[in-house]
Amino acid sequence: MLKINDNFQKLPGSYLFTEIARRVAKYSAENPDKKLIKLGIGDVTRPLVPAVIEAMHKAVDEMGREETFRGYGPDNGYDFLLDAIRDDYKERGVCLERDEIFVSDGAKSDCGNIGDIFAKENLVAVCDPVYPVYVDSNAMAGRLGDYVDGKWNNIVYMPCTMENGFEPALPDRVPDMIYLCYPNNPTGMVATKETLKKWVDYANEHGSVILYDSAYEAFITEPDIPHSIFEIEGAKNCALEFRSFSKTAGFTGTRCAYTVIPKELERGGVSVNKLWARRQGTKFNGVSYIVQRGAEAVFTAEGRKQTQETIAFYHKNAEVIREGLKSAGLTVFGGVNAPYIWAKTPNGIGSWEFFDKLLREANVVTTPGEGFGPSGEGYIRLTAFGGAEATCEAVKRVASVL
Ligand SMILES: *Cc1c(COP(=O)(O)O)cnc(C)c1O
Repeated sequence: MLKINDNFQKLPGSYLFTEIARRVAKYSAENPDKKLIKLGIGDVTRPLVPAVIEAMHKAVDEMGREETFRGYGPDNGYDFLLDAIRDDYKERGVCLERDEIFVSDGAKSDCGNIGDIFAKENLVAVCDPVYPVYVDSNAMAGRLGDYVDGKWNNIVYMPCTMENGFEPALPDRVPDMIYLCYPNNPTGMVATKETLKKWVDYANEHGSVILYDSAYEAFITEPDIPHSIFEIEGAKNCALEFRSFSKTAGFTGTRCAYTVIPKELERGGVSVNKLWARRQGTKFNGVSYIVQRGAEAVFTAEGRKQTQETIAFYHKNAEVIREGLKSAGLTVFGGVNAPYIWAKTPNGIGSWEFFDKLLREANVVTTPGEGFGPSGEGYIRLTAFGGAEATCEAVKRVASVL
């Protein structure tokens, strides 16, 4: 008889956003007159910019004519997009070859799939709190042992809390796969060049690989914060990097991302780049031509200007939340180089308890920090992706119930 993958059975039942949706639905059903403001889920709300729309319209027309119709594209992206990405990296002093860039339909898929090319025995390290995809995808692969009392028993959790300035210490047990995400979801914090250099040196010394998620790099406002791990000397020998147009350019529903794997990255004499190319060639058939033309337009002068305006809009919201909550007496982090604000719950109450209080009394939906990992307990996350007016109103309401 067929046996299922038992690792799926070990996954904890209620996914964070499902549980939030359940509580929100229950409250709404009981209080149909109450208007909720949602600052919970990290999805964008501003429309695609005109430069992207124009490029996609043009591409649609090309698909409708025999002379310009396109079927399957290259697995890893059209040259026009690879070159635009390469030029963008070059501006940060990072030189890449086309075949070090893999265009895909999402950073979530890439983060989740990358484990295919690494052995099951590898020890994984994640920051705590963390974007749940890194953890759950490794659990599905059978790397994390068993889920006991809210924790996996074969993973290195690296606590990031107020006490350590949200900067994880180098672990005692040497991990093989180290997931880092900066600017960070959920804390909104960033890593300096010195911090990343410490990780790069550690990984090179121990033969670990850093899986670096820079999905939010476009939100960095401070001048000396690295946008890519490849700005750090030695990173090409130990790191690969996930990027996405989702938060940068509002592509969450359009779908386009890319992963960079330098040719220098080898383990046991095997090129990680070649393995990923082989994996993608077998399991992935590329991103649609229309979407890739839209993504290319993000890098044009017009596209850059327009997407920066959108990001400035979200930054304004972030500032409103950050400063508003601070004035109301909460201790807040993030929101400067990221669309996320990470707030300490008042008087040490639990994050689900604070979530419920804000839902019931302020009619504002947030995300309880505990949902991102054990060390998220005692915090909540708010996102800057809402409308401007709704965000101001939400902050006022939260302040009034504290
Ligand atoms: C939103 C997000 C992504 C992007 O995912 P896509 O699949 O490209 O939409 C990647 N990493 C983190 C941490 C995110 O929050």
